[in-house]
Amino acid sequence: MLSIHEVSKAYQGESGPTNVLRNVSMEIKRGEFCVMLGSSGAGKSTLLKLISGQLAVDQGQIMVDGTVLTKSNRRQLQRQMGMVHQHFELVERLTSLDNLMLGMLPWVPRYRSVFRYWTQQERAAACQWLHRVGLEPSHATRRSGKLSGGQQQRVAIARALIRRPKVLLADEPVASLDPETSRAILSLLREVARECNATVLCSLHQPELALEFADRITHLSSGVVKFDGPVADWGGKPMYQDLTTTQSN
Ligand code: ADP
Repeated sequence: MLSIHEVSKAYQGESGPTNVLRNVSMEIKRGEFCVMLGSSGAGKSTLLKLISGQLAVDQGQIMVDGTVLTKSNRRQLQRQMGMVHQHFELVERLTSLDNLMLGMLPWVPRYRSVFRYWTQQERAAACQWLHRVGLEPSHATRRSGKLSGGQQQRVAIARALIRRPKVLLADEPVASLDPETSRAILSLLREVARECNATVLCSLHQPELALEFADRITHLSSGVVKFDGPVADWGGKPMYQDLTTTQSN
């Protein structure tokens, strides 16, 4: 379970601190797919960075399966998390298989990652993952920069899941994809995360995709949680309008 309790965060600027998140709380169970909706600047990326330990909270607590995230256990908890980004964040000159193995870096001796020496067993596991996310065996040895956006995101999802994370974080994973590919990627993400019993927190700005794929929705607006609950309880028109209006501005 991912538990966020009364989390606040401000960025320090020249003219003083700017509050970006205010008393944000939410709980997401194992296997649950939670979509975090919010217009640009709502604080979604900041919250994901706090959960993944890239930033420290000012106030409040983040817990992964009952363990409070602290400066000292940050690296250990990071190993239990996977991350999917809007721009895939693959190393374009490396093959899909080598990119996939980067997900295993915390468990692989450094010399092996430098020389990209993977055991037969590791290669087999990586190929199985590529197959699982819908890629052909021939994609394994292709440079990831030569793949389409949808294929690159499939590699990135496999890279996040090969480490069997307890928590999977996705920051606008379909923002640079066309609508058809976006649906295929979200469907895959939900399916494979369920198989791994991972808790998913995925930020999106399209309410219609949230309605289609989420088990749970959290709506952030100017750093404040406006709604948090099962998708069936969501759908308040004012919130929907707030999102669509803000996005088109
Ligand atoms: P979202 O992901 O919902 O678009 P962000 O978390 O990226 O929102 O940003 C929330 C607010 O924090 C925005 O107003 C943004 O300009 C500001 N912000 C983000 N990162 C920084 C930073 N490193 N320093 C100062 N302000 C930042």
